Amino acid sequence: MPRIDAAFDSGNIEVVTATDPNDIQLRIAKDTGSDFYQWFHFRLAGAAGRGVTMRILNAGGSSYPKGWENYRACASYDRDTWFRVPTSYDGTELTIRHVPESDYVWYAYFAPYSMERHEDLIAAAQQSERCAVEVLGETHDKQTIDMLTIGAAAEGRKPLWVFGRQHPGEPMAEWYMEGFIERLLDPADGTSRALLDKAVIYAVPNMNPDGTRRGNLRTNALGVNLNREWAAPSPEKSPEVLAVLQAMDRLGVDLSFDVHGDEAIPYNFIAGSYGVPGISDAHVAMLDRFQQTYAAMNPDFQTAHGYPKPAPGKGNLTTSTGHIANRLGALSMTLEMPFKDADNQPDPVHGWDGERSKILGRSLVDVLLAVVDDLPPRMKRN
Ligand code: ZN
Repeated sequence: MPRIDAAFDSGNIEVVTATDPNDIQLRIAKDTGSDFYQWFHFRLAGAAGRGVTMRILNAGGSSYPKGWENYRACASYDRDTWFRVPTSYDGTELTIRHVPESDYVWYAYFAPYSMERHEDLIAAAQQSERCAVEVLGETHDKQTIDMLTIGAAAEGRKPLWVFGRQHPGEPMAEWYMEGFIERLLDPADGTSRALLDKAVIYAVPNMNPDGTRRGNLRTNALGVNLNREWAAPSPEKSPEVLAVLQAMDRLGVDLSFDVHGDEAIPYNFIAGSYGVPGISDAHVAMLDRFQQTYAAMNPDFQTAHGYPKPAPGKGNLTTSTGHIANRLGALSMTLEMPFKDADNQPDPVHGWDGERSKILGRSLVDVLLAVVDDLPPRMKRN
């Protein structure tokens, strides 16, 4: 008889029935303390060599039902290589059909990035003499907000912030951070060396460890969406944001780059701080140039598809990007990567995946070096 388990780091599924391999019925659990849900991650045992049909009964009521259109679930036998499996969506249920080759097979909304891997990332990074690690703050579940300082702050070096995974069900964000950090720490990489002559990088690879471990889509352990907390973060609701914002105030920000995934849109794109009241022409010009540069450096990134540009004054100032531009005057943007595939350069086997996210993160080093000398001065704010 098949068996479904999810009681592990970043697991999420509820079993309705799993007695018949042709009719396994599942539900995605809501984020702790909230109605958001979309992230799933579970293990199937005991179905090697025969077909299984798994239905996620509550897919249609999830946070981003458009995310299921043209979506294929991710599967892995070794938790390292993830591939796509046949998946269909009828507007209500998501159905996954697969013939597993192994006794155990893992399924997930996207290649997971666990807190154990996060710990490995931090441990590896601190082996580099160009990297210092520190705890910025503590979460409800007593996990830590870890920050890496890469390079050394010095007169004339610009403070650039790159952080990800405010939304824990967007693990592509931490794959991206891993690629970015590994490249910056590679002593043989001349682009990284040149960038670190001109800038110091503050990297927070996971802003929501509680949501990550609990298998949430969008919120921390308290049910709070961190990317709506930046205007007024509190120790009670959003200690993660408070810790990072206090460090930004202390260290300064010339560029803020916040890494996410978008459920519905099958492209890599940037949403910039165009909607900030009184944004300067120099900031608008650099936001445009930054995106064009990225597309030139890595064709998996593109500028034709994305969110509509907000009119000046109409931006959401509770997000990191809106708030950091509005209050600190810094050039700010949000990167969105797809859950499905980058349709401008599709990969039928893997779709968009962790490895491609890592490579896009490596490319950020090229983009930063190309623009760092020309970053506009911080806007004067009241
Ligand atoms: Zn997000």
